[in-house]
Amino acid sequence: MKYLVISIYVLAIGLQIYSVWFAFKLLKKVKSYAYSIFFIPLGLLIIIFDKLYYLIDCCLLGQYRIPEAITYLLISFFVLIGVVGLHKLFNVLEDQNEKLELISKTDHLTKALSRLEIESQIIQEIKRSERSKHPIAFVMLDIDHFKKVNDSYGHGVGDLVLQALSKYCASQLRTVDAFGRVGGEEFLMMLADTDESEALLVAERIREGVASLVCAKVAGDEIKIQISLGISVYEPGLDAPETPIQLMKKYFRRSDLAMYKAKQSGRNQTKCWHE
Ligand code: GH3
Ligand code: MG
Ligand code: MG
Repeated sequence: MKYLVISIYVLAIGLQIYSVWFAFKLLKKVKSYAYSIFFIPLGLLIIIFDKLYYLIDCCLLGQYRIPEAITYLLISFFVLIGVVGLHKLFNVLEDQNEKLELISKTDHLTKALSRLEIESQIIQEIKRSERSKHPIAFVMLDIDHFKKVNDSYGHGVGDLVLQALSKYCASQLRTVDAFGRVGGEEFLMMLADTDESEALLVAERIREGVASLVCAKVAGDEIKIQISLGISVYEPGLDAPETPIQLMKKYFRRSDLAMYKAKQSGRNQTKCWHE
């Protein structure tokens, strides 16, 4: 009987050591309230040391109580199930958080950055350029007469056009640039370390590329579009002191105004914002 009790204790302690290991793995996953998770393995370790005394008593003095050993085994087993369950729960939460982050950062239809994300990237880039003193170019892009595409071919085809345009524009930019959807058929490009003449070259290249791009095909019809673009360039040090958020809004508005100037001047062209 003594050896049966010893075996039960050894098994129960083994299960608890396993729980401690899982609890420590949990700690790595928790980003907030880590201290509360830290108390789980700590409590378990104290119980393990306590039970080691029982085990030693049992081995050396032959003192044992079977119900207590069985209770400890059951507790160890239940704790292990709980800790493993918590670990799985945290894995699921981690996955869901990643998905939520992706959803909030990208536009569902076009896979361009969401408006929120491009605005936050612009703010970061403005902060960086205040140190590096490099200019940033903002290019606003709007499809010309896009309503006609929807009216003639349907909203589904309009969606395909938006996707094709987004894919093409993103493929034309560098990894340091950013491309986001800021309205229904309006997109914004942020070109890092780029002055006005360079931005104009990029914008014109994209405008011409889009004009010859077949965005969709419907019953033999090749659907092509044209775009109007507006450029504004932020040069660190030239503005009155403003916060990065104010600067972001200001240059967003300026590129939008330049884009409207391109619309008023006949569309399918690029205009730069000047005071
Ligand atoms: P303009 O040259 O002046 O920009 O003319 P426009 O027709 O492109 O502009 P307008 O603002 O009159 O129409 C924009 C159209 O874009 C109307 C709207 O139905 C369409 N649109 C906005 N978001 C989406 C979308 O997600 N999918 C589709 N298919 N169409 C969209
Ligand atoms: Mg339009
Ligand atoms: Mg528009």
